[in-house]
Amino acid sequence: MPVRYSYLPQQFGDIDDLWADLKRFVPTGDFTLGAPLEEFEGRFAKLIGTRHAIGVGSGTDALKLPLKALGVGHGDEVITAANTFIATVGAIAELGARPVFVDCDDTFCLRVDQVEAAITERTKALLPVHFTGYMTDMDALMPIARRHGLPVVEDACQAILADQGGKRAGTWGNAAGFSLHPLKNLNVWGDGGVIVTDDDGLNDHLRLLRNHGMRNRDEIQIMGYNSRLDTLQAVVGNWLIGSTEEITARRIANAEYYDRALADIPEIRLPPRPAGHRRVYHLYVVFAEDRDGLLAHLQGQGIEAKIHYPVPLYLQEGLKYLGYKPGAFPTTDRHTLDIITFPTDQHLSRDEQDQVIAAVRAYYGRG
Ligand SMILES: *Cc1c(COP(=O)(O)O)cnc(C)c1O
Repeated sequence: MPVRYSYLPQQFGDIDDLWADLKRFVPTGDFTLGAPLEEFEGRFAKLIGTRHAIGVGSGTDALKLPLKALGVGHGDEVITAANTFIATVGAIAELGARPVFVDCDDTFCLRVDQVEAAITERTKALLPVHFTGYMTDMDALMPIARRHGLPVVEDACQAILADQGGKRAGTWGNAAGFSLHPLKNLNVWGDGGVIVTDDDGLNDHLRLLRNHGMRNRDEIQIMGYNSRLDTLQAVVGNWLIGSTEEITARRIANAEYYDRALADIPEIRLPPRPAGHRRVYHLYVVFAEDRDGLLAHLQGQGIEAKIHYPVPLYLQEGLKYLGYKPGAFPTTDRHTLDIITFPTDQHLSRDEQDQVIAAVRAYYGRG
Protein backbone atom coordinates (compact mmCIF):
# COMPACT_ATOMS: atom_id res chain seq x y z
CA MET A 1 0.00 0.00 0.00
CA PRO A 2 1.32 3.44 -0.89
CA VAL A 3 2.36 5.93 1.78
CA ARG A 4 2.05 9.50 0.53
CA TYR A 5 4.40 12.32 1.44
CA SER A 6 1.99 15.25 1.05
CA TYR A 7 -0.72 15.46 3.70
CA LEU A 8 -2.29 18.67 2.39
CA PRO A 9 -5.56 17.05 1.26
CA GLN A 10 -6.07 15.88 4.88
CA GLN A 11 -4.79 19.10 6.44
CA PHE A 12 -7.42 21.12 4.59
CA GLY A 13 -10.06 18.42 4.19
CA ASP A 14 -12.49 19.27 6.98
CA ILE A 15 -12.80 23.03 6.85
CA ASP A 16 -16.44 24.09 7.02
CA ASP A 17 -15.60 26.53 9.82
CA LEU A 18 -12.74 28.02 7.78
CA TRP A 19 -15.06 28.55 4.80
CA ALA A 20 -17.40 30.34 7.17
CA ASP A 21 -14.54 32.57 8.39
CA LEU A 22 -13.63 33.37 4.77
CA LYS A 23 -17.24 34.15 3.87
CA ARG A 24 -17.35 36.65 6.71
CA PHE A 25 -13.94 38.09 5.77
CA VAL A 26 -14.29 38.67 2.01
CA PRO A 27 -17.17 41.19 2.18
CA THR A 28 -15.14 43.35 4.60
CA GLY A 29 -12.71 44.16 1.76
CA ASP A 30 -9.98 44.31 4.43
CA PHE A 31 -7.44 42.63 2.09
CA THR A 32 -4.15 44.34 3.02
CA LEU A 33 -2.80 44.86 6.55
CA GLY A 34 -6.29 44.32 7.95
CA ALA A 35 -7.66 43.19 11.30
CA PRO A 36 -7.14 39.42 10.71
CA LEU A 37 -3.44 40.07 10.04
CA GLU A 38 -3.10 42.02 13.29
CA GLU A 39 -4.83 39.19 15.11
CA PHE A 40 -2.52 36.60 13.51
CA GLU A 41 0.60 38.61 14.34
CA GLY A 42 -0.49 38.92 17.96
CA ARG A 43 -1.15 35.19 18.25
CA PHE A 44 2.12 34.27 16.51
CA ALA A 45 4.17 36.49 18.82
CA LYS A 46 2.45 34.91 21.82
CA LEU A 47 3.08 31.38 20.46
CA ILE A 48 6.82 31.97 20.07
CA GLY A 49 7.18 34.25 23.09
CA THR A 50 8.47 37.43 21.44
CA ARG A 51 7.27 41.03 21.75
CA HIS A 52 6.59 41.35 18.03
CA ALA A 53 5.59 39.30 14.98
CA ILE A 54 5.46 40.85 11.50
CA GLY A 55 3.67 39.07 8.65
CA VAL A 56 5.52 39.18 5.32
CA GLY A 57 5.15 37.72 1.83
CA SER A 58 7.29 34.58 2.24
CA GLY A 59 9.76 32.78 4.47
CA THR A 60 12.50 34.08 2.19
CA ASP A 61 11.43 37.67 2.89
CA ALA A 62 11.19 36.83 6.60
CA LEU A 63 14.99 36.39 6.42
CA LYS A 64 15.79 39.07 3.84
CA LEU A 65 14.00 41.96 5.56
CA PRO A 66 15.72 41.51 8.94
CA LEU A 67 19.11 41.19 7.23
CA LYS A 68 18.36 44.42 5.34
CA ALA A 69 17.21 46.17 8.51
CA LEU A 70 20.41 45.08 10.28
CA GLY A 71 22.49 46.74 7.57
CA VAL A 72 23.39 43.86 5.24
CA GLY A 73 23.96 45.12 1.71
CA HIS A 74 26.09 44.87 -1.38
CA GLY A 75 29.48 43.22 -0.87
CA ASP A 76 28.80 42.16 2.71
CA GLU A 77 29.19 38.56 3.84
CA VAL A 78 26.60 36.54 5.77
CA ILE A 79 27.61 33.23 7.35
CA THR A 80 25.11 30.39 7.01
CA ALA A 81 24.81 26.59 6.78
CA ALA A 82 26.07 24.76 3.69
CA ASN A 83 23.24 22.20 3.78
CA THR A 84 20.17 24.43 3.83
CA PHE A 85 17.24 25.00 1.45
CA ILE A 86 18.00 27.49 -1.32
CA ALA A 87 15.69 30.14 0.18
CA THR A 88 18.17 30.86 2.99
CA VAL A 89 20.86 31.65 0.47
CA GLY A 90 18.44 33.52 -1.80
CA ALA A 91 17.59 35.91 1.05
CA ILE A 92 21.29 36.83 1.35
CA ALA A 93 21.94 37.03 -2.39
CA GLU A 94 18.88 39.22 -3.09
CA LEU A 95 20.53 41.92 -0.97
CA GLY A 96 23.69 41.75 -3.07
CA ALA A 97 25.53 40.11 -0.18
CA ARG A 98 27.66 36.99 -0.33
CA PRO A 99 26.65 33.76 1.41
CA VAL A 100 29.58 32.19 3.26
CA PHE A 101 28.99 28.54 4.09
CA VAL A 102 29.92 26.54 7.18
CA ASP A 103 29.63 22.74 7.14
CA CYS A 104 27.04 20.91 9.25
CA ASP A 105 27.30 17.93 11.58
CA ASP A 106 24.97 14.95 11.89
CA THR A 107 22.34 17.08 13.64
CA PHE A 108 21.91 18.81 10.25
CA CYS A 109 22.83 22.19 11.75
CA LEU A 110 25.97 24.21 11.15
CA ARG A 111 29.11 23.42 13.14
CA VAL A 112 29.40 26.30 15.57
CA ASP A 113 33.09 25.46 16.14
CA GLN A 114 33.80 26.40 12.50
CA VAL A 115 32.03 29.77 12.53
CA GLU A 116 34.89 31.90 13.84
CA ALA A 117 37.21 30.70 11.07
CA ALA A 118 34.65 31.94 8.52
CA ILE A 119 34.41 35.49 9.96
CA THR A 120 36.18 38.23 7.96
CA GLU A 121 36.10 42.03 8.12
CA ARG A 122 33.24 41.88 5.61
CA THR A 123 31.03 39.63 7.76
CA LYS A 124 27.84 41.54 8.60
CA ALA A 125 25.58 38.91 10.14
CA LEU A 126 25.12 35.26 11.12
CA LEU A 127 22.20 33.29 9.70
CA PRO A 128 22.05 29.89 11.47
CA VAL A 129 19.46 27.45 10.08
CA HIS A 130 17.47 25.21 12.43
CA PHE A 131 17.38 22.58 9.72
CA THR A 132 14.85 19.69 9.73
CA GLY A 133 13.56 20.96 13.10
CA TYR A 134 16.82 20.50 15.01
CA MET A 135 18.11 23.67 16.62
CA THR A 136 21.57 25.02 15.94
CA ASP A 137 23.57 25.07 19.20
CA MET A 138 22.59 28.65 20.03
CA ASP A 139 24.09 28.43 23.54
CA ALA A 140 27.46 28.16 21.82
CA LEU A 141 26.77 30.48 18.87
CA MET A 142 25.47 33.55 20.70
CA PRO A 143 28.70 34.23 22.67
CA ILE A 144 30.64 34.13 19.37
CA ALA A 145 28.20 36.59 17.82
CA ARG A 146 28.53 38.93 20.81
CA ARG A 147 32.32 38.69 20.84
CA HIS A 148 32.45 39.79 17.20
CA GLY A 149 29.60 42.29 17.45
CA LEU A 150 27.62 40.43 14.79
CA PRO A 151 23.81 40.41 14.65
CA VAL A 152 22.05 37.05 14.36
CA VAL A 153 18.98 36.23 12.27
CA GLU A 154 17.67 32.71 12.88
CA ASP A 155 16.26 30.73 9.97
CA ALA A 156 13.49 29.07 11.95
CA CYS A 157 11.42 28.15 8.86
CA GLN A 158 11.58 24.44 9.72
CA ALA A 159 11.66 24.83 13.49
CA ILE A 160 8.44 26.30 14.86
CA LEU A 161 8.22 25.39 18.59
CA ALA A 162 11.67 23.77 18.66
CA ASP A 163 13.75 24.80 21.65
CA GLN A 164 17.14 24.48 23.32
CA GLY A 165 17.06 24.37 27.10
CA GLY A 166 13.42 25.48 26.97
CA LYS A 167 14.27 28.64 25.00
CA ARG A 168 12.44 28.63 21.70
CA ALA A 169 13.76 28.86 18.17
CA GLY A 170 13.26 32.47 17.14
CA THR A 171 13.97 34.00 20.56
CA TRP A 172 17.79 33.87 20.48
CA GLY A 173 18.89 36.24 17.73
CA ASN A 174 18.07 39.85 16.90
CA ALA A 175 15.24 38.48 14.76
CA ALA A 176 14.07 35.20 13.21
CA GLY A 177 12.18 34.20 10.11
CA PHE A 178 9.42 31.59 9.84
CA SER A 179 7.70 30.29 6.69
CA LEU A 180 3.99 29.57 6.28
CA HIS A 181 4.53 27.79 2.94
CA PRO A 182 2.13 24.86 2.39
CA LEU A 183 4.95 22.38 3.12
CA LYS A 184 5.80 23.85 6.55
CA ASN A 185 4.51 22.69 9.94
CA LEU A 186 2.17 25.71 10.32
CA ASN A 187 0.95 26.33 6.79
CA VAL A 188 -1.42 28.47 4.75
CA TRP A 189 -2.75 28.35 1.17
CA GLY A 190 0.21 29.93 -0.56
CA ASP A 191 3.33 31.87 0.25
CA GLY A 192 3.69 33.62 3.57
CA GLY A 193 6.22 34.31 6.28
CA VAL A 194 6.55 35.81 9.75
CA ILE A 195 9.43 37.69 11.37
CA VAL A 196 9.69 37.71 15.15
CA THR A 197 11.76 40.07 17.29
CA ASP A 198 11.91 41.57 20.77
CA ASP A 199 13.51 44.76 19.47
CA ASP A 200 11.01 47.65 19.23
CA GLY A 201 13.18 49.64 16.82
CA LEU A 202 13.66 46.65 14.52
CA ASN A 203 9.91 45.96 14.63
CA ASP A 204 9.18 49.52 13.47
CA HIS A 205 11.81 49.30 10.72
CA LEU A 206 10.51 45.92 9.50
CA ARG A 207 6.92 47.18 9.33
CA LEU A 208 8.12 50.01 7.08
CA LEU A 209 10.25 47.66 4.95
CA ARG A 210 7.40 45.25 4.21
CA ASN A 211 5.05 48.03 3.06
CA HIS A 212 7.04 50.16 0.58
CA GLY A 213 8.69 52.13 3.38
CA MET A 214 5.41 53.95 3.94
CA ARG A 215 4.85 55.50 7.38
CA ASN A 216 1.30 56.24 6.26
CA ARG A 217 -0.46 56.75 2.93
CA ASP A 218 1.24 60.13 2.34
CA GLU A 219 4.73 59.64 3.81
CA ILE A 220 7.51 57.44 2.39
CA GLN A 221 10.08 57.25 5.15
CA ILE A 222 12.53 54.75 3.59
CA MET A 223 12.77 52.67 0.43
CA GLY A 224 11.14 49.31 1.11
CA TYR A 225 9.47 46.31 -0.50
CA ASN A 226 6.01 45.07 -1.30
CA SER A 227 6.01 42.10 1.09
CA ARG A 228 2.94 41.89 3.27
CA LEU A 229 1.41 38.65 4.47
CA ASP A 230 -1.90 38.50 2.57
CA THR A 231 -4.74 39.15 4.99
CA LEU A 232 -6.62 36.26 3.35
CA GLN A 233 -3.76 33.95 4.34
CA ALA A 234 -3.89 35.42 7.85
CA VAL A 235 -7.51 34.20 8.05
CA VAL A 236 -6.26 30.69 7.19
CA GLY A 237 -3.43 31.12 9.70
CA ASN A 238 -5.83 32.17 12.46
CA TRP A 239 -7.88 29.05 11.78
CA LEU A 240 -4.83 26.78 12.18
CA ILE A 241 -2.47 28.48 14.63
CA GLY A 242 -4.28 27.10 17.69
CA SER A 243 -3.28 23.59 16.54
CA THR A 244 0.46 24.26 16.29
CA GLU A 245 1.30 22.59 19.61
CA GLU A 246 -0.77 19.52 18.69
CA ILE A 247 0.82 19.32 15.21
CA THR A 248 4.25 19.49 16.84
CA ALA A 249 3.47 16.85 19.46
CA ARG A 250 2.25 14.42 16.79
CA ARG A 251 5.35 14.87 14.67
CA ILE A 252 7.55 14.26 17.70
CA ALA A 253 5.55 11.15 18.65
CA ASN A 254 5.84 9.81 15.08
CA ALA A 255 9.59 10.41 15.09
CA GLU A 256 9.99 8.62 18.43
CA TYR A 257 8.00 5.67 17.06
CA TYR A 258 10.32 5.42 14.04
CA ASP A 259 13.37 5.79 16.30
CA ARG A 260 12.30 2.82 18.43
CA ALA A 261 11.40 0.67 15.43
CA LEU A 262 14.53 1.40 13.38
CA ALA A 263 17.10 1.36 16.19
CA ASP A 264 18.05 -2.31 15.79
CA ILE A 265 18.57 -2.26 12.00
CA PRO A 266 22.35 -2.16 11.55
CA GLU A 267 22.10 -0.59 8.09
CA ILE A 268 20.16 2.40 9.48
CA ARG A 269 21.89 4.94 11.71
CA LEU A 270 19.82 7.43 13.68
CA PRO A 271 21.19 10.97 13.98
CA PRO A 272 22.37 12.04 17.45
CA ARG A 273 19.48 13.21 19.63
CA PRO A 274 21.21 15.66 21.99
CA ALA A 275 19.55 16.08 25.39
CA GLY A 276 18.03 19.43 26.27
CA HIS A 277 16.77 20.04 22.74
CA ARG A 278 13.20 19.86 21.55
CA ARG A 279 13.28 18.71 17.91
CA VAL A 280 10.08 19.30 15.94
CA TYR A 281 10.78 16.98 12.99
CA HIS A 282 9.81 19.14 10.08
CA LEU A 283 11.74 16.34 8.35
CA TYR A 284 12.46 12.89 9.78
CA VAL A 285 15.91 12.04 8.40
CA VAL A 286 18.13 8.99 9.06
CA PHE A 287 21.37 7.70 7.56
CA ALA A 288 21.06 4.58 5.39
CA GLU A 289 23.55 2.14 3.91
CA ASP A 290 23.00 1.67 0.18
CA ARG A 291 20.68 4.67 0.33
CA ASP A 292 19.84 4.79 -3.36
CA GLY A 293 18.84 1.12 -3.31
CA LEU A 294 16.61 1.68 -0.29
CA LEU A 295 15.03 4.77 -1.86
CA ALA A 296 14.23 2.89 -5.08
CA HIS A 297 12.83 -0.05 -3.08
CA LEU A 298 10.52 2.23 -1.07
CA GLN A 299 9.42 4.30 -4.04
CA GLY A 300 8.77 1.08 -5.98
CA GLN A 301 6.15 0.26 -3.34
CA GLY A 302 4.60 3.70 -3.51
CA ILE A 303 6.23 4.84 -0.25
CA GLU A 304 7.20 8.44 -0.88
CA ALA A 305 10.56 8.71 0.85
CA LYS A 306 12.65 11.72 -0.20
CA ILE A 307 16.17 13.15 -0.12
CA HIS A 308 16.70 16.63 1.42
CA TYR A 309 18.82 17.22 -0.68
CA PRO A 310 20.62 15.11 -3.29
CA VAL A 311 22.98 17.87 -4.54
CA PRO A 312 24.69 20.31 -2.16
CA LEU A 313 23.82 23.94 -2.85
CA TYR A 314 27.43 25.00 -3.27
CA LEU A 315 27.79 22.65 -6.28
CA GLN A 316 24.59 23.83 -7.99
CA GLU A 317 24.89 25.70 -11.29
CA GLY A 318 23.27 28.84 -9.87
CA LEU A 319 25.83 29.10 -7.04
CA LYS A 320 28.98 28.35 -9.04
CA TYR A 321 29.85 32.06 -8.93
CA LEU A 322 30.69 31.64 -5.24
CA GLY A 323 33.75 29.65 -6.30
CA TYR A 324 33.50 26.74 -3.86
CA LYS A 325 35.36 23.58 -4.93
CA PRO A 326 33.94 20.03 -4.70
CA GLY A 327 34.83 18.57 -1.30
CA ALA A 328 34.69 21.92 0.50
CA PHE A 329 32.00 20.70 2.93
CA PRO A 330 32.64 17.01 3.70
CA THR A 331 29.67 16.34 6.00
CA THR A 332 27.23 18.14 3.73
CA ASP A 333 28.66 16.09 0.85
CA ARG A 334 28.32 12.81 2.72
CA HIS A 335 24.73 13.60 3.70
CA THR A 336 23.74 13.92 0.05
CA LEU A 337 24.74 10.25 -0.29
CA ASP A 338 23.43 8.67 2.92
CA ILE A 339 20.40 10.64 4.15
CA ILE A 340 16.80 9.58 3.56
CA THR A 341 13.58 11.29 4.72
CA PHE A 342 10.46 9.35 5.73
CA PRO A 343 7.00 10.92 5.98
CA THR A 344 6.41 12.05 9.60
CA ASP A 345 3.60 14.58 9.43
CA GLN A 346 0.74 14.93 11.87
CA HIS A 347 -1.71 13.07 9.61
CA LEU A 348 0.44 9.97 9.17
CA SER A 349 -1.19 6.89 10.69
CA ARG A 350 0.55 4.17 12.72
CA ASP A 351 -0.41 1.78 9.91
CA GLU A 352 1.43 3.90 7.40
CA GLN A 353 4.46 4.14 9.67
CA ASP A 354 4.43 0.35 10.13
CA GLN A 355 4.45 -0.05 6.34
CA VAL A 356 7.49 2.21 6.01
CA ILE A 357 9.26 0.30 8.79
CA ALA A 358 8.38 -3.12 7.32
CA ALA A 359 9.60 -2.06 3.88
CA VAL A 360 12.93 -0.86 5.33
CA ARG A 361 13.35 -4.13 7.26
CA ALA A 362 12.50 -6.18 4.18
CA TYR A 363 15.02 -4.30 2.05
CA TYR A 364 17.86 -5.16 4.41
CA GLY A 365 16.60 -8.71 5.01
CA ARG A 366 15.82 -7.89 8.66
CA GLY A 367 12.14 -8.87 8.61
C1 LIG B 1 10.94 27.02 3.60
C2 LIG B 1 12.25 27.55 3.98
C3 LIG B 1 12.58 28.91 3.81
C4 LIG B 1 11.63 29.92 3.22
O1 LIG B 1 10.98 29.49 2.09
P1 LIG B 1 9.69 30.22 1.50
O2 LIG B 1 9.27 29.27 0.44
O3 LIG B 1 10.15 31.53 0.95
O4 LIG B 1 8.67 30.39 2.57
C5 LIG B 1 13.81 29.33 4.25
N1 LIG B 1 14.69 28.48 4.81
C6 LIG B 1 14.41 27.18 4.98
C7 LIG B 1 15.43 26.30 5.65
C8 LIG B 1 13.19 26.66 4.56
O5 LIG B 1 12.94 25.36 4.73
